[in-house]
Amino acid sequence: MSQSVCILGVTGSIGQSTLKILQQHPEKYSVFAVTAHSRILELVEICKQYRPKIAVVPSSKVDELKQHFQNHNLNNIEILSDEAGLIAVAEHPDVGVVMAAIVGAAGLLPTLAAVKAGKRVLLANKEALVMSGDIMMQAARDYHAELLPVDSEHNAIFQCLPEGYFQTERTGQPKQGVSRILLTASGGPFINHSLEQLQSVTPAQACKHPNWSMGQKISVDSATLMNKGLELIEACHLFAISEQFVTVVVHPQSIIHSMVQYVDGSTLAQMGNPDMCTPIAHALAWPQRIQTHVPALDLFINQKLDFQEPDITRFPALKLARQAMQNGGLAPAILNAANEIAVAAFLRNNIGFTEIPQVVEQTLNQVEGGSAESIERILLADQAARSVAQQIVTHKGS
Ligand code: NDP
Ligand code: MG
Repeated sequence: MSQSVCILGVTGSIGQSTLKILQQHPEKYSVFAVTAHSRILELVEICKQYRPKIAVVPSSKVDELKQHFQNHNLNNIEILSDEAGLIAVAEHPDVGVVMAAIVGAAGLLPTLAAVKAGKRVLLANKEALVMSGDIMMQAARDYHAELLPVDSEHNAIFQCLPEGYFQTERTGQPKQGVSRILLTASGGPFINHSLEQLQSVTPAQACKHPNWSMGQKISVDSATLMNKGLELIEACHLFAISEQFVTVVVHPQSIIHSMVQYVDGSTLAQMGNPDMCTPIAHALAWPQRIQTHVPALDLFINQKLDFQEPDITRFPALKLARQAMQNGGLAPAILNAANEIAVAAFLRNNIGFTEIPQVVEQTLNQVEGGSAESIERILLADQAARSVAQQIVTHKGS
């Protein structure tokens, strides 16, 4: 019987890559529900091709979507709306697998709903885990969800870890012979820029990643290295270790997707061409393997693998994220919220590129932390951080 899949954020870059794989394996997977936020025409095309049972959009887009469905004879697709609709499809009893590929904090509650419904959850939406870390991981254990990493680095680490390592309580110490995680970073498009040059980079330049094709927000995060900071926090939660056991390694070719070191001196790496279809296919089929269109690595072409230490003077976002993880509690949620506001302001040309980490740092200094004991508490901190970050942005832009 085929597995029925819900794709949260189907119109995005990860959503599209997911469809590509599902299309290759129609006997194994069917699309049950899809969600979109602004790209309604793209959603209609997807619905024409994949005929899901349910589509979710913001309530402001429902009439428009209904009209399109009528025009294309798609009236049998049910339309749900807003966060309640996202949660309903994420926990729907007919769904087996949920791809969590909404960008940012908007994905938190639907992702958590999927985890609490005990689904196999393919986690792309790293912001959800950064915000809710311990709560999300505890829910995965309590409700027997399979929370599998799609982020290429974490998927690589997952592949290199010993069997059974996953989803244990966060004690902080690596175990089962693991000594360290090496989290690779491409370094982004500005890896060789000086601080002065960084000050004048434009949103278009920041969104043009050398190795990966991604949504705008994560592209900017990759350029500031905040993406690696968020991934550091993501790794600590997924693999139940404290941040001192995670080393960030800049590896510009993005061929090694991350590594795990063991106490006997072994270092295991997962390699491949940079294409998100590989980690998505791995998480979908795990513990089996399924075919993708991604060509095997040709080491005679990719002959050179370089490594260097990250420069936290030019890219302070990484330092801020590590500090937030050390501080714990609400600090990662505050960091994430401030970053979302700062990136949006940069994309609107309201602040400069080097002001993004400044907004994050100032927000962290101004918003009170505390313990992340409940989702309500986390959402309140998220809101508080957003309003403080917005004030800082307005001040900088004036
Ligand atoms: P995109 O911007 O391409 O897609 C984001 C998706 O989320 C779209 O479907 C969008 O809908 C939807 N969305 C945006 N805002 C909201 C909202 N407020 N409520 C509901 N849905 C919303 O992003 P990516 O696909 O690149 O990234 C998705 C997630 O995956 C991010 O968390 C990112 O960090 C992570 N990720 C991405 C990788 C990549 O290679 N792209 C790699 C590793 C992780 P619409 O388009 O209709 O507006
Ligand atoms: Mg990544």
